[in-house]
Amino acid sequence: MSVRILKPEKLTACERVDEISGERVLLCKQCGICTASCPNIQEMDLSPRELMHLIQLGALEEALESKSIWVCSSCLQCSVKCPRGIDIAGVMETLRAMRLRARLGCLAPAETLDAACADAPPILLISAMRKLTG
Ligand code: SF4
Ligand code: SF4
Repeated sequence: MSVRILKPEKLTACERVDEISGERVLLCKQCGICTASCPNIQEMDLSPRELMHLIQLGALEEALESKSIWVCSSCLQCSVKCPRGIDIAGVMETLRAMRLRARLGCLAPAETLDAACADAPPILLISAMRKLTG
């Protein structure tokens, strides 16, 4: 059995995200169910479906620049509903990790949330979203 080991710079954008997340982004069929399920979609600049598409197209830098990866509250609504079984919340986490590993910085809560929520503890916001969205 041969084992293929590639240096990170030889991997495609999809392969890099897949390697860290353990998912297969190319399986995404662009149905948009993740976007329709997301309770935070109104605060996002790119929908989860659009982020998946950018990664598929190799536009990783654009995906990493998106505000959406910081708006995502890891509620898992998208992950449980994806017909292709992709853990989109895990892909979001991967994109955040890639930014942090590259020392590209992150958005502060005050930049991602309504001003009225800026001082609220994250667990309160996640809990409220779960209760309000079922
Ligand atoms: S629900 Fe799954 S298959 Fe559909 S767009 Fe989102 S990631 Fe792709
Ligand atoms: S895990 Fe993130 S992207 Fe998925 S539905 Fe929840 S907030 Fe939206």
